[in-house]
Amino acid sequence: MNEEERVCRRCLLIESGKDGIMLDIRKRIENLSEEEKSSAGVYDSRLAVCKNCDYLVGGTCMKCGCYPEFRAAFRKQRCPANKWS
Ligand code: SF4
Repeated sequence: MNEEERVCRRCLLIESGKDGIMLDIRKRIENLSEEEKSSAGVYDSRLAVCKNCDYLVGGTCMKCGCYPEFRAAFRKQRCPANKWS
């Protein structure tokens, strides 16, 4: 396995070189209403938890198959393992 094929454990999408997916996610987040969207502080704290979670592999949550960088943007979403406070 060469360097490019390695899966980055505990990396978010933005750190995994999956720029196309991240760009799409950013656009989708921009289109959320303020009512739907979590605050910047909540978003960042959720992703900090994901960064230390064993379920995060290459920007995907292996507990539920979501992209945490997208899921965390929704105020009403919850971590599938109840790790977000
Ligand atoms: S289980 Fe929760 S904390 Fe872990 S990666 Fe998934 S969403 Fe993040």
